[in-house]
Amino acid sequence: EHVLHLQGIRKCYGSGDLQTEILHGIDLRLQRGEFAALIGPSGSGKSTLLNLIGLLDRPSSGKLEIDGEDIARLDDAELTRLRGQRIGFVFQHHNLIPAFTAEENVAMPMLVARGRPDRDMFETAGRLLEQVGLGERKQYLANRLSGGQQQRVAIARALAMNPALVLADEPTGNLDTHSADEVFSLMREFNRHQATTFLIVTHDPRLAARCDRIIELIDGRIASDSQLS
Ligand code: ADP
Ligand code: ADP
Repeated sequence: EHVLHLQGIRKCYGSGDLQTEILHGIDLRLQRGEFAALIGPSGSGKSTLLNLIGLLDRPSSGKLEIDGEDIARLDDAELTRLRGQRIGFVFQHHNLIPAFTAEENVAMPMLVARGRPDRDMFETAGRLLEQVGLGERKQYLANRLSGGQQQRVAIARALAMNPALVLADEPTGNLDTHSADEVFSLMREFNRHQATTFLIVTHDPRLAARCDRIIELIDGRIASDSQLS
């Protein structure tokens, strides 16, 4: 069962004589429950690829299926809905709303999806915050938490809609080693217990080595793809 299926994905920027192809035909499948690292030098196209998989941008050509849905058939509104329901994001800069509490930040994706607040979404947010070890701090404003704690809130938020796929772009890039390990271990726990699929961009070889699979992008092509366990 594939959560993600890319076939011959190309991405160009610009137009006419100034058009440059950044991704040159990417083939990639991720099965449900995989925990994969995406590595590669700066400029190799990792962010571009993540933006396509995250449905923030459309490929120039090729086939992209998320959770069995061929995105070529979806209009922009349907793409936005699919993104909200099936994909969770964790960024290097956690992008929390600083003046909202941890609980409100985690409830936000559910609020956006349902249109108005209900008790159930705050229960879910509270439970997720307990799972990331912040049950006692759910009423703290996001900007009163440490960097590592904020990234744990971001992970809880990414999981709020129980997504099929979580995309993490350098989720530990800003953290000290200890906090990075904690954040990474949390993602691993969600992966093991809920079979959530993760694709994690990282520059940290130590963390990549703790994934099940390492996909390496060089100059817009998959240069290697190795299964570690
Ligand atoms: P983006 O994902 O926005 O394209 P980059 O991949 O260029 O960002 O880099 C993200 C961050 O990682 C930057 O802060 C950059 O300085 C740092 N970085 C880039 N390449 C490396 C590397 N090989 N080793 C360690 N850090 C890196
Ligand atoms: P990485 O995340 O691996 O650092 P990126 O996907 O950010 O790589 O960038 C890949 C290449 O695409 C780079 O040469 C970058 O300059 C180029 N690029 C990224 N976004 C755009 C854009 N919006 N317009 C034009 N070129 C872009």
